Amino acid sequence: MTDRQQLLQAFDALLQPERFRDYGPNGLQVEGRSEIRKIVSGVTASRALIEAAIAAQADAIFVHHGLFWRGQDGRVTGWMKQRLALLLAHDINLLAYHLPLDAHPEFGNNAQLGLQLGLRAEGRFGEQDLGFLGTRMQGTDFATAGDLAAHVEKALNRPVTIVNTAQDAIKNIAWCTGGAQGYFEAAIAAGADAFITGEISEPQAHYARECGVAYIACGHHASERYGAPAAAAHVAAQLGLTHEFIEIDNPA
Ligand SMILES: [Zn+2]
Repeated sequence: MTDRQQLLQAFDALLQPERFRDYGPNGLQVEGRSEIRKIVSGVTASRALIEAAIAAQADAIFVHHGLFWRGQDGRVTGWMKQRLALLLAHDINLLAYHLPLDAHPEFGNNAQLGLQLGLRAEGRFGEQDLGFLGTRMQGTDFATAGDLAAHVEKALNRPVTIVNTAQDAIKNIAWCTGGAQGYFEAAIAAGADAFITGEISEPQAHYARECGVAYIACGHHASERYGAPAAAAHVAAQLGLTHEFIEIDNPA
């Protein structure tokens, strides 16, 4: 058992939120009970995750996508009211870490996606150094971008969107989890042969064709479901807590 303050300190020490310029508050977003025995981790603080955490008797929920973002309307109505009402009625703490969880070199979303895909990180690129750049762990390159896409589909168990299937070998692979469309040009500048992220928007298809760099969109959720359980399991072990990851499927 531990208390809320120690739990928060452990996550802050691990993820160092003060190092990032982020889109919302990192750390404790909703205060619940002081005594902590069990953490539930998940990708997004959706109503389904909060309900599952209540059923699992969690004292704290640890997520990548919290409830509050810069530029939000700010009213507690509709879905926001429902999610907050559940958290407050059950006295559950909500902790959220966004960019700090993407970036952590061992337990973060990018590091953990790299492990899932068998990629070794050799460098960083892009704004706030969030992008990872590396090569295949087993040494041999992917023969084509199509081979890399098939590998990603198998590892993540979902279809991907691929643009540019030129038959060149893929050696240098850049990746950045979630909605990192905006990192594609930095990935190209960093020398990537292929870029993997969660989503694609219209302009990136043209950049991929025109710059000869393959673009693979493997799902925002699918690319970000490995960091939260890795970080939460680490902190839970440190503090002697129970931890459970709850997957709420998301096609996006
Ligand atoms: Zn995200």
